[in-house]
Amino acid sequence: MKHYDVIVIGGGHAGVEAAMAAARIGVSTALITHRFDRIGMMSCNPAIGGLGKGHLVREIDAMDGLMGRAADHAGIQFRLLNRRKGPAVQGPRAQCDRRLYREFVQEAVSAQVSLQVMEGEVTDLVIDYGRISGVVVGDDQSIGCKSVVLTTGTFLDGVIHIGTDRRSGGRIGDAAASRLASRIRDLGLQTGRLKTGTPPRLRKDSIDFAALEAQPGDEDPTLFSFMSKAASARQVPCHITRTNERTHEIIRENLSRSAMYGGHIDGVGPRYCPSIEDKVVRFEDKDSHQIFLEPEGLDDPLIYPNGISTSLPIDVQEAYVRSIEGLSGAVIAQPGYAIEYDYIDPRSLSDVLELKALPGLYLAGQINGTTGYEEAGAQGLLAGANAALSGVGDPLRLDRADGYIGVMIDDLIHRGVAEPYRMFTSRAEFRLTLRADNADQRLTPKARSCGLVSEARWSDYSDKVHALSQARELLTGRVLSPGALLEAGIKVTKDGAKRTALDLLGLAEMDAESLAAAFPEISKVGVDALRQLKNEAIYANYLPRQEAMIAQMRAEEAREIPSDMDYAAISGLSSELRQKLAAVSPKTLGQASRIDGMTPAALALVLISAKAADKSSRGRRGSGVRSGG
Ligand code: FAD
Repeated sequence: MKHYDVIVIGGGHAGVEAAMAAARIGVSTALITHRFDRIGMMSCNPAIGGLGKGHLVREIDAMDGLMGRAADHAGIQFRLLNRRKGPAVQGPRAQCDRRLYREFVQEAVSAQVSLQVMEGEVTDLVIDYGRISGVVVGDDQSIGCKSVVLTTGTFLDGVIHIGTDRRSGGRIGDAAASRLASRIRDLGLQTGRLKTGTPPRLRKDSIDFAALEAQPGDEDPTLFSFMSKAASARQVPCHITRTNERTHEIIRENLSRSAMYGGHIDGVGPRYCPSIEDKVVRFEDKDSHQIFLEPEGLDDPLIYPNGISTSLPIDVQEAYVRSIEGLSGAVIAQPGYAIEYDYIDPRSLSDVLELKALPGLYLAGQINGTTGYEEAGAQGLLAGANAALSGVGDPLRLDRADGYIGVMIDDLIHRGVAEPYRMFTSRAEFRLTLRADNADQRLTPKARSCGLVSEARWSDYSDKVHALSQARELLTGRVLSPGALLEAGIKVTKDGAKRTALDLLGLAEMDAESLAAAFPEISKVGVDALRQLKNEAIYANYLPRQEAMIAQMRAEEAREIPSDMDYAAISGLSSELRQKLAAVSPKTLGQASRIDGMTPAALALVLISAKAADKSSRGRRGSGVRSGG
């Protein structure tokens, strides 16, 4: 029987990052997936990044993951979202050429040392003495391993809906993973149903682009990877159109034929990525919704109309699409559809994404109730790294102050999901320090210490950090009085306060050119260092408070709760919170504080009980010592 240290099931976005991370750490890894040619496939929109999601991609990249480099390679339109807002909430996004993205990922996977890809369907998990010990591929091929990372996406008992037509499938053109789904249910894990949808794909040559507004990308593309220097693919625009009253009328008239509204789907859909049916019903007062017509690739004949995902029957899709400006002659090459699938309640996972009830089995991606490539990739990297580190090194843990990945995992394992979870900057309470620009400084050293980061990246990173510290020294080396600054043409208030170049860089309108008259040394600072130092300077007044909050959070994290804590015995706790606490079994007070519905009063009761339990166990330990002596 073959044997690997880590087996990753599924070659989607989570699976690829998981397998690559495990292999980078140097353990023998197998990636088992239905088809090699689907590795790196974007099941829905051909884009990476966006608000909150762009941060996740930077964090994946900071730990030497693949997604950022693949998106930079395949990006055909780069846009920094929220450009007018503060740097902490800006989100890099790239429209990607699907084929280029897929090919880049497949090449990287093929070239990765210690990683072997196998085509096949995993139908069973092998469990020995309560621990995972292998998988079964197809009918009877058993493969042994120490750890498994399960990343089956939308495939577990996936059902595709187009109007009243429903069929089994993991995504259009792919079979569902039904045998594995029933095995997982037999394990007694808490599962549920979620759904998501995708719009019809339109033939590019059937669209009248001349009638529509073009949306170019940024002139100076913001790339994802700290290693990338420039975009490599040709850059193209997207186009914008809108639904109208007629479109909405057609949709309203046919709502009963929609899978989502006709009562054919039980699963809960993504609130933040609603179908066009959802939008028409939920936002009745709006007479129009924006649609971005996004190319699926440079030579791809298809357009992805972002904003009209649907589960209406094909004839209705055709009718409403053709009611839209620029699309009157549009031909649908692939209908929109909704997909419903099983997910596993992420509250059954530890903070390294390992199932608490089944050691050795890690879960990542859509199976944990999330939606999106970025969310999947980020979980995959963490789960893959920890599967590899299990038993050989310290686990890789990220908390809410380390990164958006930490925020997501903490949310998932403590709050669970009521709908597909996607990342937003608003989920991160420490977002002023968790910026996209400093993801490498937050995570590359941590990842390097686990063996995840290549020599090449480490050397680039070390050079960058050195350049940044020199730049910081230069920009804080001299202070000038308001008089001297005014004389040099720099407008400041005459408050007597002396200022460094870095202080002034924090002013919104201040750039290197304006500062050069007073601080000529600024010309020695590189563009990248200057950009990051400006971001730091903008938030300089807020950072001490945020750091104090982080210190408080970490102190709470350090306050451990005994694993055998009897929540039923804590009087004053509601029965709902008792159940939640018992189900999650938080290791620390910080984790308990983030359980959905937790109140300060309830937390105080938990703290008192934890202290009492501590005291009594110290007492027991103490008496043991006395009697032994
Ligand atoms: P996937 O990318 O789905 O990959 C799963 C992989 O596992 C596949 O390669 C599959 O072949 C393999 N696999 C499954 N079971 C087995 C098995 N038993 N044995 C071997 N291999 C197996 N995201 C958004 O952000 N916004 C959206 O609007 C959106 N809409 C979507 C609409 C549709 C119809 C679909 C299908 C997906 C949509 N997504 C959307 C989700 C996005 O595609 C996923 O979030 C992302 O791909 C999840 O990554 P993953 O790695 O978890 O799973």
